[in-house]
Amino acid sequence: MSATVIRDVRIFDGEGIVPHGSVLVRDGLIACVGRVDVPGDAQVVEGEGRTLLPGLIDAHTHAFPGKLEQAVQFGVTTELDMFSVPSVLGQVRAEAAKPYAADLRTSGVGATAPGGHPSQFMAEVFGAFPTLTSAEDAVAFVRDRVAEGADYLKILIEDGSAMGMPLPCLNAATVQALVEAAHAAGLLAVAHATTQAGAEMAVAAGIDGLTHMFLADGEVDRLAARMAEAGVFVTATLAMFEALDDQAGASLAADERIGARLAPELRAAVGRTPPGFPSAPGLAAHTAETTTALHRAGVVVLAGTDANDGPHGAFPVVHGASLHRELECLTMAGLTPVQALAAATSLPANRYGLDDRGRIAPGLRADLLLVEGDPAEDITATRSIAGVWRQGQLAPYATAWRLT
Ligand SMILES: [Zn+2]
Repeated sequence: MSATVIRDVRIFDGEGIVPHGSVLVRDGLIACVGRVDVPGDAQVVEGEGRTLLPGLIDAHTHAFPGKLEQAVQFGVTTELDMFSVPSVLGQVRAEAAKPYAADLRTSGVGATAPGGHPSQFMAEVFGAFPTLTSAEDAVAFVRDRVAEGADYLKILIEDGSAMGMPLPCLNAATVQALVEAAHAAGLLAVAHATTQAGAEMAVAAGIDGLTHMFLADGEVDRLAARMAEAGVFVTATLAMFEALDDQAGASLAADERIGARLAPELRAAVGRTPPGFPSAPGLAAHTAETTTALHRAGVVVLAGTDANDGPHGAFPVVHGASLHRELECLTMAGLTPVQALAAATSLPANRYGLDDRGRIAPGLRADLLLVEGDPAEDITATRSIAGVWRQGQLAPYATAWRLT
């Protein structure tokens, strides 16, 4: 495999901005960063006026066939799937092994009560899937997920109150037993919890992270301090909440840098309340305010979309594209652009144990995103994509990106 040099470029290395340098890629890995001697066999990409970033990591998706390739088109080179079933995962994992698809980690089947979330939405897509009813089932449930190749355990704490429909929900003892079983099996445990009480239950059980911002119903300072102290992260999914409220996220699809590369049915759906969902006035501001409070308290915030578009239809947050709106939402909630970029690169890599990516440093995977301009100044510059490499291979949309 030949080498590539991205020369004289601004570098976001996963944690901060290096104003000027070059990056040598060889054999799918980052070989050298800084001053680079250009090998004779190297393809040279001029970086003047551009910024090179680690490929983006979306810390909350639901991967479906065809969607990992879509993700790469928008610079997302790793997706962390947060609920799937073996029949879907078989196809998606095969796709993830292809050169121009995002890499994948997955919880596999999440832990929920019989008939519990997300059965009400996903029964048709996923068919029947295993559930559990009591703490005694936790060890066997986790063992079965390990056997299916789960990379972490997802626990659903959802009584439906935030959605206006009562749902069967795991109790605190079961959540606790699941977290302990996951940790005993060497897995991270993360939880969906939309209410503050659910988030408190998860944190009390020793959860490692929350996969959504919760809907605060009182002061959050104590919970925020507890999360910060215990190192519990939260993947805010603000663009998803926003879509159930004020539709401001539709601005993403109106941005030609993104919208022109979305299929028409996705472009029409992005940022808009999906059919059958009640709109929730104030939800965008409320979840953003809670994100601000948690971030100020020192809680690690990760970027994730809850992208759900697939063969079953469009969704207001979509693979790849919607992460760019999530980054903007995080800055509106008080993260600096550099903090938002870290939330989509080094921080999820660190929290999910992906030691081979998320930063630009010698020896790491050459998953790279090259954009026009400086996203540390204007976060929407991440949308001005000039090129995406997965393991050192330039994805084939480069002509559209005017890289060469
Ligand atoms: Zn989800």
